[in-house]
Amino acid sequence: MIFYNPSGAPEMACDECGCRWFDRIRNACYECGAEVPAEKAAEFERALETFRQRAGGQQTQDRSSTT
Ligand SMILES: [Zn+2]
Repeated sequence: MIFYNPSGAPEMACDECGCRWFDRIRNACYECGAEVPAEKAAEFERALETFRQRAGGQQTQDRSSTT
């Protein structure tokens, strides 16, 4: 599932266990191993992109980015 934190940034959370730890290489939950459907991952990427554009290039805390 995708939800938005108080600063408006999208965050991915596991449909199965509700945690927010994802292996972004495998698109799978660290906690329970549930895979994120490619469709969901793409949806999240779009939400993230929209947020970044809305932020206007400001420095945002993005702890989920591990690239
Ligand atoms: Zn999980």
